[in-house]
Amino acid sequence: MNMISQSAMRDFLTCRYLYLLKHRRGLEPAVGGVVEGSNRQLAARRGQQFHRAVQQYLSGLASDSVRSMIKDDTVRAWFEKFVKYGMSGIPDRRSVETWATAPLADRVLIARYDLLAWDSERLVICDWKTGSRPIEDPDTQIQTMVYRYVAACSGQAVTGTAYLPEQIEIRYWYVRDDDPANQIAYSQQQFKRDEVRLRELIAEIAACNAFPKTDDVDVCKTCLFRAVCRPEIPSGTWEPEFEHTPESMSIGWGES
Ligand code: SF4
Repeated sequence: MNMISQSAMRDFLTCRYLYLLKHRRGLEPAVGGVVEGSNRQLAARRGQQFHRAVQQYLSGLASDSVRSMIKDDTVRAWFEKFVKYGMSGIPDRRSVETWATAPLADRVLIARYDLLAWDSERLVICDWKTGSRPIEDPDTQIQTMVYRYVAACSGQAVTGTAYLPEQIEIRYWYVRDDDPANQIAYSQQQFKRDEVRLRELIAEIAACNAFPKTDDVDVCKTCLFRAVCRPEIPSGTWEPEFEHTPESMSIGWGES
């Protein structure tokens, strides 16, 4: 069965042409316009550095050692905030940068998690957000749906314990916010709602044979393909959300 990720589903909903380029034609986003010095490049570097710093820290490296490797002042400030508050209320048993899969319809959903943390009572999905715009209505975002659905179906493969939806939470942690933790509960009702929605979306993607460009040019301003797809549209002034992609993971510690 073919794998499908939340990012593919989100791209399909955002712009079908973007989905075509990335997920059907397999084009590398960097080819399409990660411009040196652009907001997206800066966001990618900072996001990658922050995620790596947290990964090292949660894997047992001393905070001083991690801090000494961060050259970007903004990322260092984010990391300081994380060390103070980031793991507040999070269960002790943890798996960093982990992933799980769950079959649905004729696909396999794949979820890559920044962190899964659990105890005997609950499973917490943690996701660090470094973009300058908070996600709107996170309960109905595709990422939230996929992450929680896969955790409910297959989290046991990571944790060794099966959890009911009511025992699962997702925590978005916004590095730029004064009160960065946004924790969202889950329920059996939401699990069933999300399963229906994800099935519908998988079927819609499988049947799709028309991939028009989006009418929302605001989306294009931070699109990875803007420079080759719609070069007449200026780049956005905000820093978009970091994603684990091949080009983002190739950016090193010391760059700023
Ligand atoms: S630049 Fe706009 S139209 Fe082109 S792929 Fe990106 S979002 Fe779609």
